[in-house]
Amino acid sequence: METHGRDTILISTQSTATRRRIILFPLPFQGHINPMLQLANILHNQGFDITIIHTEYNSPIHSNHPHFTFKSISDRFFELETKADAGVILQYLNRSCEDPFRDCLTGLLVEYGEGSVSCLITDAGFHFTQAVADSVKLPRMVLRTSSLGCVLAYVALPFSSESGYFNLTKEDSNYETSVPEFPLMKVKDIVKMTNNPESMGEFVSDMLHQMKASSGIIWNTFQELEEPALETISHDFSIPSFTLGPFHKYFPASSSSLIEQDRSVLSWLDNQAPKSVIYISFGSVALITESEFQEVAHGLANIGLPFLWVVRPGIVPGSQWLEALPEKFLESVGDGGRIVKWAPQQDVLAHPATGCFWTHCGWNSTLESICEGVPMVCSPCFVDQPVNARYVSDVWKIGVLLEDGFDRVGIERAIKRVMVEKEGEEIRERITSLKEKVNLSLEEGGSSHQSLKGLVDYILSF
Ligand code: UDP
Repeated sequence: METHGRDTILISTQSTATRRRIILFPLPFQGHINPMLQLANILHNQGFDITIIHTEYNSPIHSNHPHFTFKSISDRFFELETKADAGVILQYLNRSCEDPFRDCLTGLLVEYGEGSVSCLITDAGFHFTQAVADSVKLPRMVLRTSSLGCVLAYVALPFSSESGYFNLTKEDSNYETSVPEFPLMKVKDIVKMTNNPESMGEFVSDMLHQMKASSGIIWNTFQELEEPALETISHDFSIPSFTLGPFHKYFPASSSSLIEQDRSVLSWLDNQAPKSVIYISFGSVALITESEFQEVAHGLANIGLPFLWVVRPGIVPGSQWLEALPEKFLESVGDGGRIVKWAPQQDVLAHPATGCFWTHCGWNSTLESICEGVPMVCSPCFVDQPVNARYVSDVWKIGVLLEDGFDRVGIERAIKRVMVEKEGEEIRERITSLKEKVNLSLEEGGSSHQSLKGLVDYILSF
């Protein structure tokens, strides 16, 4: 086994008899592109040639992956209304990409010749691709970039206005109660998942249906983290599941970053005391309101600990970047706080100065935090994030959930629980133990290592 970069692992290339090609197709969002390109690298390292079909919108940077062939297809993404809900956007992409994808795939199969492409691997969210793959008799596997737990929640939850949940507000008496269909979640959690339960329900139903019709599911998770969920999924989905994650432990995400990462933060971190810094990032798509943004700032100022805050331009709709900060905020925090547009997140989490991660609980961020043993404070915004946050706080107990949104008093209390109090030490012990389990799973004979071998054999059997 070779080591690569900071703390990543390359499993030695197998001596596969024939070098065969795999065609992959990611959804065009950072949290989906990262794991798909990591998976492509993992499979390339196992002896496969790689072609990536991608949309014009959020195109990966080709020059960062000279060993892959890229084919771009039109997506008409810019015809979409900017404020559309996730379900609407995903269903739109499933329609707008269908013809260009079919043309591209058919052309590639002719170009590569019969028998030279082993299979298609698409993001599970591109559910239309199953019918295309069937029509050209190519096996299709899916990469599901969320947790297994999220898919269990998607199977169980009634996404429709008629369910009566999605229009409830704080004033309703059952807002704080568990949802009977998936008791880990409270009504207030699922309300956050979508503003448009109909389109979300339609998307989820199409995705689950076509996942079941696929030849197998690849998950960016590891068995020891989600054992009960894996058992349920293996029972309910009669196709193989491969849990070979976390993918970024094989290959870091920096090369697939769509935004330039500000690496100057690493030397700033070098000057901070061990485990003293609060790292804050809400990922690549979540939005917060101006008043929520200001509560974050006030909360950080009141805590008085050093912080590194990723403020993505546009995270506050209508704002260019930092205009909405409270007056004199930057002067008052001085060198005790850094704000950047985009950070080298995995390096930040691996840095000894980082003490906790205040996160939106995107699945990649959650896994990256687990892999570095960094306790979390959770502010989930939408789609799968509220599910991940419940697993982090209530099941794995490796973080604290900001139950009542962004309010400076609650923020200060939650971060102190993790950074200062005894409870924080216990949380750190539990997440450190998970970090050790991740490392074991990737070693020769470990569950992820075995699952990768199983996946390679399975693909070679097509
Ligand atoms: N990320 C990054 N720099 C940042 C913030 C995030 O490189 O400043 C990366 C992060 O490491 C992760 C991805 O962007 O791999 C975000 O994916 P996630 O699933 O956590 O959230 P999403 O962006 O899909 O909401």
